[in-house]
Amino acid sequence: CEEFTLKDLSRLTNAFAEEAKIGSGSFGSVYRAKLPDGREVAIKRAERASTGARRRRRFDAERAFRSELRLLSRVNHRNLVSLLGFCEERGERILVFEFMPHGALHDHLHGEDAGSGHSPLFSSWEARLRVALDAARGVEYLHCYAVPPIIHRDIKPSNILLDDDWTAKVSDFGLSLVSGASASASPTTTSGTAGTVGYMDPEYYRLQELTERSDVYSFGVVLLELVTGRKAIHRDQSQEGSGSPRNVIEFAVPAVEGGNIDKILDSRVPAPRGHEVEAVARVAKIGAECVRPRGRGRPVMSEVVAELEWAVTLCE
Ligand code: ADP
Repeated sequence: CEEFTLKDLSRLTNAFAEEAKIGSGSFGSVYRAKLPDGREVAIKRAERASTGARRRRRFDAERAFRSELRLLSRVNHRNLVSLLGFCEERGERILVFEFMPHGALHDHLHGEDAGSGHSPLFSSWEARLRVALDAARGVEYLHCYAVPPIIHRDIKPSNILLDDDWTAKVSDFGLSLVSGASASASPTTTSGTAGTVGYMDPEYYRLQELTERSDVYSFGVVLLELVTGRKAIHRDQSQEGSGSPRNVIEFAVPAVEGGNIDKILDSRVPAPRGHEVEAVARVAKIGAECVRPRGRGRPVMSEVVAELEWAVTLCE
């Protein structure tokens, strides 16, 4: 993980020009740039720390930022977006990530042009299941192989990014800590300040206990979105044009349990054929298991990965 100066980065991104801006999120703004060696990068610039912050607090936050960076720069997996560098100067906190040319899964599934381009996500179920498997492997790595384990806390389709060859990678793990929002001495590293409505584990609120099973719940919502093509919270267009919001879980789980999954499949993808029928049914079933209200009833990520591997193999 490389340390950059503010001057280096300003030069790369044209002093953080609007034209270079590709998004904004909870951490701050995201800019697209190219390193001198030709590598494309996404530069995330945090909102500036408040100038009124006491010096002591700022010092602690800087120390936390650096120690988390050390941790995150050691995390390395083909299904996690790599952190390439950082810059911490004059109250700025900037992170440099590998650039993901096909952007966020969310935009492919639910964006304005969803389904109209050449996205493989609309040509076959196999492509969708591969995205699910890639993302599951990324999360499994965070839970099982990262030292200390990392609970992501904000798994959702806008944090699943797609590479040039459509490999899916999970992003934004550890960000709340490096942004200084909730640094703690907990042996488990967590990210995301509060999660996102529609993806948050209801049991977390009841027990106030953070475990890997909350990520499994959020991942289950993502699986149900991939199967149905619906958003986590979907606004049905009723005849009056208003419609009431409906949760993808309420929409999908009864059909999965009743064996009627053909009624809920995303109709923008050609209907599954042959072994695909079983593969998609299996994925819908894992999705339903991941969103069980009780954490203990949910599978762990390694089981989810094993099931998805089986489903992808069936499609081949
Ligand atoms: P959020 O807090 O909503 O997850 P982020 O700050 O992570 O948002 O990113 C906002 C948007 O910027 C993403 O939805 C994505 O379109 C884009 N983006 C973020 N990181 C990258 C990256 N590494 N490569 C390409 N685009 C990215």
